[in-house]
Amino acid sequence: MVRVGMGYDVHALVKGRKLVLGGVEIPHTTGLDGHSDADALMHAICDAVLGALGEGDIGQLFPNTDLRWRGAPSKVFLAEAARRVAARRGRLVNVDASVLAEAPRLAPHAASMKANIAAALGIRPDAVGVKATTNERLGFIGRGEGIAAMAVACVELPD
Ligand code: MG
Repeated sequence: MVRVGMGYDVHALVKGRKLVLGGVEIPHTTGLDGHSDADALMHAICDAVLGALGEGDIGQLFPNTDLRWRGAPSKVFLAEAARRVAARRGRLVNVDASVLAEAPRLAPHAASMKANIAAALGIRPDAVGVKATTNERLGFIGRGEGIAAMAVACVELPD
């Protein structure tokens, strides 16, 4: 049985925070605000995998009221999502994601992001898509107030 899931996440850009996307720390004047490392890309992928399993979302699994996840690297969330796929005797086929950010340029970091995401999920880097687009200067993303990410995941589960 082939299942798909989708995920979306957004975090605000603020001064005094590191910008971490796909597990890569990217030099920038602002960083994403949040309880964990606020890696919107990994969060969207995590929700996509959980969605394919029909097992809730990242906020239910890792509540931001739980001090254990404070400043946590988001690869632990991906690893838990992958563990849940394995627990269902499933196979994560591929994930694909788009990051919506006006700045900085993310393309130079895409290969590193793919490698980090693949490692956290235990799949091959060529089974991970990471794309980046600006928001054509429109809205909160266009004004540099935040960064969003969307993702899909394909999971094979036993019938
Ligand atoms: Mg998030």
